[in-house]
Amino acid sequence: MSVAAATASKKKSFRTLPVEGKRVFVRVDFNVPFNKTTGEVSDDARLRAALPTINALREKKAKVILAAHLGRPKGQANPKYSLKPIVAALSQLLNAPVAFSEDCVGPKAQEAVAKLNPGDVLLLENLRFHPEEEANDAAFAKQLASLADVFVQDAFGAVHRAHASTSAIAAVLPSAAGSLLEKELQFLGTIKSNPARPYVALLGGAKVSDKIGVVEAFVGQVDTLFVGGAMAYTFLCAQGFSTGDSLVEADQVEFCKSVLAKAKSRNVQVVLPLDHVIVQEIDKPEAAKTTSDAQIPAGWKGVDVGPKTIDAIVPAILAAKTIFWNGPAGIFEMPAYAKGTMALAEAVAESSAKGATSVVGGGDSVAAVAKAGVSDKITFISTGGGASMEFLEGKELPGVKALPEG
Ligand code: AMP
Repeated sequence: MSVAAATASKKKSFRTLPVEGKRVFVRVDFNVPFNKTTGEVSDDARLRAALPTINALREKKAKVILAAHLGRPKGQANPKYSLKPIVAALSQLLNAPVAFSEDCVGPKAQEAVAKLNPGDVLLLENLRFHPEEEANDAAFAKQLASLADVFVQDAFGAVHRAHASTSAIAAVLPSAAGSLLEKELQFLGTIKSNPARPYVALLGGAKVSDKIGVVEAFVGQVDTLFVGGAMAYTFLCAQGFSTGDSLVEADQVEFCKSVLAKAKSRNVQVVLPLDHVIVQEIDKPEAAKTTSDAQIPAGWKGVDVGPKTIDAIVPAILAAKTIFWNGPAGIFEMPAYAKGTMALAEAVAESSAKGATSVVGGGDSVAAVAKAGVSDKITFISTGGGASMEFLEGKELPGVKALPEG
């Protein structure tokens, strides 16, 4: 059995649960973005990722109860964070009606569940309208569990949190992993335990402090580690380069030094920016300049990697057999500063077409591959940025731990 199959088969699969005519509580990740003007779902990737489990359960004539969170309503009902606007988008994707309950527990939820026929789908209101959800409260988990006969965990993007709907509920109901969760664990399990080499990790984004764990872990796992985005300036600072007014986390400089030393002792190649796109003011891209080396002059800030950097990392990406990418190489939301990130996306896609296994995680990198028009060329797009990093870090994911072995 391959390592991938072994990892995936460790947890009980929802396919083994008796679900016909049963009420199935499915924890999904519907934490999607909305268009501010129209109020419609602006990226339905997470909804589509949940379809295989929902459709499989409907085919088996289960009564499907979907539970999710949206944003951070801090334990209070707040229309701004209502899941109701998702009903139309989900209904269209399923080509079936989706009922909605204005509360995820209590009489409203019970009434809505009682109306379900086999094959029907119900979406419950935001779990995080109740503070007990994030507190992993056992009594609240029992209330949720009372709506159903079995529990299916399919919210990969939420399994790194021990919440009532990811952790405590699994102690109450017969539980199993859904199709998306299985797939995520399979791909991430393979690249963690048995990556084809060379293995190249690309990290970017705003903060080193958000990615300390995964940076440390990668120094023991990968062959080449590229650090771009604002994260890179703290590393460059650790190497003694001037970083001007760029984002630098002074309290992470020592950490970056230790990572660089560890990488050297382990023969891990760390690729840092060799040049930069710099500006004095972010909203004045017309005055941007490209540096000739890694130094950033006083009064200027880095907003993207430069062409020499792209030339340095692209060959490593093309030669890779495994690629993991989380975090943009620059402020890619602005077209003037998106070149580095787009070059990464295109190189990852080209390498994947040549046979590399590529896994892209994290909202911004996923958006970047979509922007570059190469999403369909990526081997696997993870729905959980934080969860995928914690998994690769070697942390136990509470929502996975809570599920029985199968
Ligand atoms: P993260 O959520 O940590 O992956 O960070 C993503 C954010 O990092 C994006 O919104 C980018 O605009 C931002 N980012 C990337 N490069 C830079 C940079 N050089 N300066 C400031 N922000 C950056």
